[in-house]
Parts: sequence; C-alpha cells; structure tokens
Amino acid sequence: MSAIGELAGVGPKSAVLFRELGIATARDLLDYLPFRYDDLRFPTPSSRLGSTGGAEENAVGVVEHVKERRARGLEIVELRLRDDDGSFVAKWIGRNRYVVGRFRAGMRLFVRGRVERSLAGPVVNVAHYAQLGEDETYHGEMVPIYRASKDLTTRKIAAVVEKNLPTLLALAGEDPLPSSVRERKGYPTLRDAYRAVHAPRTPEEAQRARERFVFGEFLGLATAAQLRRAERERAHDARALVVPPTLLDELQAALPYPLTGAQRRVIEEIWRDMTRAVPMNRLLQGDVGSGKTLVAAAAVLLCARNGVQSALMTPTEILAAQHASKLAPLLMPFGIAVEAVFGSQSARSRASALDRLASGEAAVAVGTHALLTEGVEFARLSLAIIDEQHRFGVEQRARLRAKGGAPHTLHMTATPIPRTLAQSVYADLDLSVIDELPPGRTPIETFAVRTSRLPRVYEFVRENVALGHQVYVVAPAIDEDSDLTSVVAEAERLKNEVLPDLRIGLLHGRLNAREKDDVMGRFARGEIDVLLATTVVEVGVDVPNASVMVILDAQRYGLAQLHQLRGRVGRGAAKSFCVLVYPDDKGETERLNILTDSTDGFRIAEEDLRIRGAGEFAGTAQSGAAELWIADLVRDIDVYREAKAEAERIVAADPELRAPEHAGLREMLARAPSTRALVLSS
Ligand code: ADP
Ligand code: MG
Repeated sequence: MSAIGELAGVGPKSAVLFRELGIATARDLLDYLPFRYDDLRFPTPSSRLGSTGGAEENAVGVVEHVKERRARGLEIVELRLRDDDGSFVAKWIGRNRYVVGRFRAGMRLFVRGRVERSLAGPVVNVAHYAQLGEDETYHGEMVPIYRASKDLTTRKIAAVVEKNLPTLLALAGEDPLPSSVRERKGYPTLRDAYRAVHAPRTPEEAQRARERFVFGEFLGLATAAQLRRAERERAHDARALVVPPTLLDELQAALPYPLTGAQRRVIEEIWRDMTRAVPMNRLLQGDVGSGKTLVAAAAVLLCARNGVQSALMTPTEILAAQHASKLAPLLMPFGIAVEAVFGSQSARSRASALDRLASGEAAVAVGTHALLTEGVEFARLSLAIIDEQHRFGVEQRARLRAKGGAPHTLHMTATPIPRTLAQSVYADLDLSVIDELPPGRTPIETFAVRTSRLPRVYEFVRENVALGHQVYVVAPAIDEDSDLTSVVAEAERLKNEVLPDLRIGLLHGRLNAREKDDVMGRFARGEIDVLLATTVVEVGVDVPNASVMVILDAQRYGLAQLHQLRGRVGRGAAKSFCVLVYPDDKGETERLNILTDSTDGFRIAEEDLRIRGAGEFAGTAQSGAAELWIADLVRDIDVYREAKAEAERIVAADPELRAPEHAGLREMLARAPSTRALVLSS
C-alpha cells in the first residue's frame, strides 16, 4: 500500500502532518471523506455577499476603481467591483502576493474569499482570483471541506486529493455492496461514489454518494451482527431449562409487594429465552430504582430450580456487596444461598466459596472480576449476569461465559439508551426494558442554579442534614489544576469554612479500593453527613438516607450522566432533591431544564442523544460506536433500518457469505474497524 508521502504534492513535512491526522497511506486519504462542502458553483450577487457568516464566497464583477499601496513589505490592494446587483470591494493584503499593478478598470474578475461586511459594503478578502474574458461565464465548483489541523489546512488536503484523484480512485477495491443491492437502491458504483464525495458536481450527487457509504458501513455492521446471531442460533449448545408453571406465582408469593407489570413482562421474556437450547443474549435496561435486582433474582431462581448455577459479575466491590445483600433475602425463601467472590475477601472465606461453587452445592456466585480468576470453577454454570456491562471489556465478558459451557447471558444496565439506538448498537442483543417504576415513589425535585447562589445551596444542605439526612456533593476534578471545581479543595473549604460543624467525607478515583470501600461504608452507616465525590459514586450504590445531590459544574456532564448521578438519591422514604450548579456566565439553563422538567431516564436519554449525537453518547462511547467511519446512528437511523433488513436477507440466503456477489462484503467485514462497534453484543 503506497504511503501518503508518495503522492504528488506531499513532501516529507506534510507527510508528517497527514499522519498526525491518521492518514498514513493513499488508501487512508481516499477514505478521508469531506464532512461538508462549500457550494461555490455560482457567484454570490454583491447584495447577498457576507450573509453566510464567515464562509468563503465567490463573486464576479467588473473593476471600477483600483487602489494600491506598499507598506513595510506588505502589498495592499483594494478594488471596487461592480456586478448587476451593486458593488463590493476585493482586498489583498500580505507579502509576496504579486498583485500590485495587475488590475485595471474594466477588467472582469472572479474572486473568492471570506467576506466581511463594512460600511463601504461587503469586502472579499481574496484567497483566489481569476481574470475572466468578456463573455466568459463563471463555472465554480463544490469545494470539499475536510477535517483539518492547524498546520494542515482543508485547502491543502483538497489540493492533494484533487491532484491525485485518479491514483486514489484506482485504490477503491472491491465493492462491498452486492451489485443486486446497489442496483436496487440506485446507488453509484464504488468508484463513482468516491469521486462524487471528493469532487462532486452538485450537492445532490455528494449527498447520494455519502448515503451509499453510510449504507455500506451499516450493512457491514448489521451483517456482522446477523452472522453472529446465526452462529449462536445454529450452535444450539445451551442448556434448555424448564419453567415450572407455578414459578412466577411462587416468586410473587414470596415478595412483600406486587411485581410491576414491566417486571412480570421481562421476567417472562428472559425465562422464555432460557427454555431454548440457543444461548440467551439479552440486555435488560431499566432506570435506577426500576427493580432490576428482582428480575436478576428471577433468572437465578429458574436456574436453581433446574439444578444449574448462575454468576453475577459487577464492576466494583461495593456493588457486588450490595447485589449480594439485595439478592439474598429475595432468594432465601427458596433455599438459595448467595456466595460472594471478591478481591479483598479473606483467603478462608474465598476458599470455602470456591469449594461450594466447584461442587455445585452453591447455586449462585456474586462477585467482581475476581470471578474471572483461574481458581474459580463452576460445576454447572448456565447463566452469566453482567451488571453495568459497558464497564467490562469484550474479553472479560467472554471469560465469564467460558466458565460455563454455553451459558445464557443477561446483560444489565441502568443507562437508558433509546430503543432505536440500542437495537443498532447492540445489534446482536435482544432487548428487555423495564419502563415502569414501582409505585409510590416521590419524584426527585431538581433545580438548576448559578454558582453565585452556592452559599444558599450549602444552607439548604445544612438544613437537610439538620433533619437527619445525608448529602452528596459531586464535582468534576480531583485536583485544583483547572478552572473546574476540585473535590479535594471543596472538601477542605467545606470542612474549614462553610460547614465546619458537619462531618465531611471525600471519595475519588485516586483512592485505592480499600479506602473507597471505607469511605462508602462510613457514608452508608451514617457516619458522614456530606460526601464530596467525583463521578465514582455514579454506579449503583444505595444509601437510602441520602436525600440531596448537589452537582457542581453541571455543565461538564451529559444529561444522561446527570440523571444517573441524580439516581443516587430518592431511594428512601424522604423527599429528595437534586441541585445542578453551573457557572454564572454559561447559558446552560435550557439544557439543564430538561432535567428539572423530567425524571424519565428514557426521555432524557433521547434528548441527550439529540443534543450530542450518537458518537458521544454516554455508554456507547466505549462501545466502539464512536468508531463508525462515516455513519451516525442517530442522524442516519433510517438508513440503518434499511441496511439491517438487507443484512437479514443476505445472511438468510447465504449464511457464510460464500456467493461471489458477497466477496466484497466478506472482505469489508474482515477489515472494517466499525464492526468493532459490535463488541457490546458479544
Ligand atoms: P435497580 O437495580 O433497577 O436500580 P433495585 O432492584 O435496586 O433497582 O430496586 C430498587 C428498590 O425498589 C428496591 O428497594 C426494591 O426492593 C424495590 N422494588 C423492586 N421491585 C418492586 C416492586 N415491584 N414494588 C415495590 N418495590 C419494588
Ligand atoms: Mg441495581
């Protein structure tokens, strides 16, 4: 593959700059698509020049007046040009532009440049110009705009692409779109599409070509997911469990409250999956407090009734402990004991837990990634439950499953992801959503306030502590090395100045696991009134007596993350509050009002997605969805649906992609980085 430096117009210096943008080869440059175009096909009439706000524009006019001077090596040339609409100024300023003496009244000129509005009318700061003949009509072009760096401008990139276009197009390779699909969709061929995105003649042509690439990328994604699903379905190697007809009633009878309708529905979905020999691969989504633990308990119960084991893996020890203590009372009525496996456990208790798991005596293990270590063996592991799955890598999830034959897998997350997005990001997962909270919760009251009101906020904190409640204060930074609030510094300030009579705790990511557990433990036992923390408190911890959540520098967080943080309170009987604090000079109110107006995690997630786009969406950023090449799961969701339908047809007809027509697709799957977006579903 030829290196970028071998292309015409790329010297050793610019080759380095290209590489800094991730463009190492000619092929990389071919795939480096413009993200928009300046439509410079037609000159802008002088009356409308400068109305686009800083973009380059074209104008054509006849020179009326020439003003030239030189000052300290600078050439300054100002022309007044007239067109049918009125007149404008074309201005050159700089060294070595060699324009002095070139222009005379009566010449017809084309100029291009950024336009400023002045009292004397629009002024074009000329970057390009050309003299036109008397009757020559101007033919401009669509100018591609590439993502550039400070030292490598989009203009330079465009120039290199233009100069080498035939060479680049020859690298296009085999078309990943089966020709029948391409024809049915009316898409251009691969080469034409590359030509049309880099050097379009019309915006429509560029748009169509872009859509073709989006479709192609999605087709790869959806086909990879479909293949994986087909493989799972074929394997047929999971244990098919039997659901006793009275099991749900038994479960209900053991509970102090009625199951919500949503819990009932998802338990049935999960149980139904587990009666099949095809390994379940299901994602359970439910907002904080929606009662996912109970659903997990139901899956464990079904396994225990069938004489097989389950494992629940969580990202932190605190969470493992909390899960274990919540599962235990739910499972006790059925005679199921919970074994805990975590890093800081004593050797003795670890050894006895491992014995009982290996012998099959224990039905369920709850633990951290300590579950993945070598000594941990299961007699008959048939269910792997993975909590907050986005916190684990593909490999860790695979290792847990490898502890069993082909166990059923249940992923759980409290990060609500809009269904449309979830179905594509997690293309190989079936989805169960708990979209209903248990009755009787008082919604958390949320306020957005400016930093200047902080003294009042801390008064409010004091009042709540006086009522016997506890408070979280979350800030984004650990140290004081930016203009963001530091938890360390704020903890000091509260301790010494603002709330000296209260018990202040501090929790952040640089503490080791034992220190974190210690602080969390003291907070949970009510020995700390106000806990200053970074977002490490985000995940699942449950302190029902905490009734106020203060988030400093709320502008730093996405809506979904703020919602997650807010979910740390409102877990007890007391009415709870969330206070979002943002700098006085930031116009954040509109965004934060989404949170003050709604406690529906899915609605908030939709809004977050709309504002930020899929690439940055919380939880999917790590998933690889951000690595999509050109497609965007939010903007292009309709194209995704079409591609997915096509992928289903392709895999149904040719499950191993052996047909010659599918060779290009197979090759793309082998190399396309976007198939990495599938990591979540494996
Ligand atoms: P999640 O893990 O989804 O955040 P939990 O499973 O911890 O939620 O449940 C939150 C709280 O709701 C727990 O105290 C639990 O006992 C309670 N709960 C769960 N299901 C119900 C229900 N159907 N009715 C009333 N309370 C419930
Ligand atoms: Mg939970």
